[in-house]
Amino acid sequence: MLIETDVLVIGAGPAGSSTAKHTALNGADVIVIDKKSEIGAPKRCAEGVSKEGLKKLKIEPSTRWVTKELSGVRLIAPNGTGVWLNEEKVKLPEAGYILERKVFDKHMAMDAARAGAKIMVKTLAKGIRREGDYLVATLETMGEEFEVKAKIVVGADGPESRMGRFLGLKTTLKPKNMESCAQFEMVNVKMEDPDSIEFYFGSVAPGGYAWIFPKGDDIANVGLGILTTETDKSAYDHLLEFVKNNPSTQNAQPVELNIGGDPVGGMLKELVTDNFMLVGDAASQVNPLTGGGIIAAMEAGVYAGEVAAAAVKDGDYSAKKLSKYQERCEENIGVKFKRDLKVKDYLQSLSDEELNSIADAFQDIELDTINTAELIKQLIKVSPKALLKLGKLF
Ligand SMILES: Cc1cc2nc3c(=O)[nH]c(=O)nc-3n(C[C@H](O)[C@H](O)[C@H](O)COP(=O)(O)OP(=O)(O)OC[C@H]3O[C@@H](n4cnc5c(N)ncnc54)[C@H](O)[C@@H]3O)c2cc1C
Repeated sequence: MLIETDVLVIGAGPAGSSTAKHTALNGADVIVIDKKSEIGAPKRCAEGVSKEGLKKLKIEPSTRWVTKELSGVRLIAPNGTGVWLNEEKVKLPEAGYILERKVFDKHMAMDAARAGAKIMVKTLAKGIRREGDYLVATLETMGEEFEVKAKIVVGADGPESRMGRFLGLKTTLKPKNMESCAQFEMVNVKMEDPDSIEFYFGSVAPGGYAWIFPKGDDIANVGLGILTTETDKSAYDHLLEFVKNNPSTQNAQPVELNIGGDPVGGMLKELVTDNFMLVGDAASQVNPLTGGGIIAAMEAGVYAGEVAAAAVKDGDYSAKKLSKYQERCEENIGVKFKRDLKVKDYLQSLSDEELNSIADAFQDIELDTINTAELIKQLIKVSPKALLKLGKLF
């Protein structure tokens, strides 16, 4: 069987569904496939998004997929000293929501379908080849192989993406650019403030951080990301230790385990080639500092969809035409990620003792508002090392 379409999107995560929606809204035929039988499940995510991010994407929060509205953040040093950033102390424009990704991802796919995209679930992409001015993808569903011939293929196939490599893009990541993550969704979690998200820094999660993200009632995502270049233990072993030692999880029980990679090395240099674009985790469009990629994946999906539809209209699927997508991503996502990558490198260079003394210094700091840039500015004030490494950036 051979199906023809203007655009084929591989992967129906946030990146793929957003791409498919905006391709369809701009008038091109689009098919989006996912190997999963249920879009969004299992999740590999702590499910936090900023309100600002959703607003920018013009996505109205829905009670179907928001499990918790957050009102604060707590940053915890290795010795347990907490820096509270909550609405009593400071305005929090970046406060956000905890999602139910299994529901959210499905709803984003539904939005794509409502815009006119065709969705195929339990459909695996096995390979792509070039045929004249088209790409032909080999797919498999329910044991049957078939092919899709497309003018443009979008690789939105997540952190283990293979599609770009098939077409010669350099997508292999160095170990220092891929965090290894492990997370339990737990019940019976007793947080000091169940409306705040918590980040734990230092040797608890070498090369990354640990988190507790509340999902309402006594439920929370409890996880961490590490760099394998910084520790001999696995992310799962670090997680077991974290849960054993953290006061909030003494009586907690896991109801779900999520293991996965998070590409935190900054956006890939090459996102397009003839007839092809990479979007989302497949393009390393993850904030290197926070590891968050949902909003960036969906923003890039908007650009990819608009550029793909314009290319179809003009009958030009060349890398040159599609490079407009790369330009928009670099301008709107890549520049900030480059700066955040430097902040991440600085944070990684700090010992537990240095982190403890920064947390002490932060106790007396007065903030009017809070976002990442403001936090770094304050960090520069209290840490001479931060001034040296980050002073020029802020
Ligand atoms: C433990 C952990 C915690 C995280 N926490 C957060 C957080 O709190 N906030 C945040 O913003 N981000 C977080 N992230 C990152 C976030 O999950 C990703 O950035 C986001 O899911 C990227 O979306 P995506 O669509 O690019 O990829 P994905 O969501 O991974 O979607 C890719 C899709 O492609 C499909 N696919 C893959 N290969 C094929 C194939 N060959 N054929 C067909 N389908 C295929 C997969 O089934 C999948 O559905 C976290 C990541 C991890 C690992």
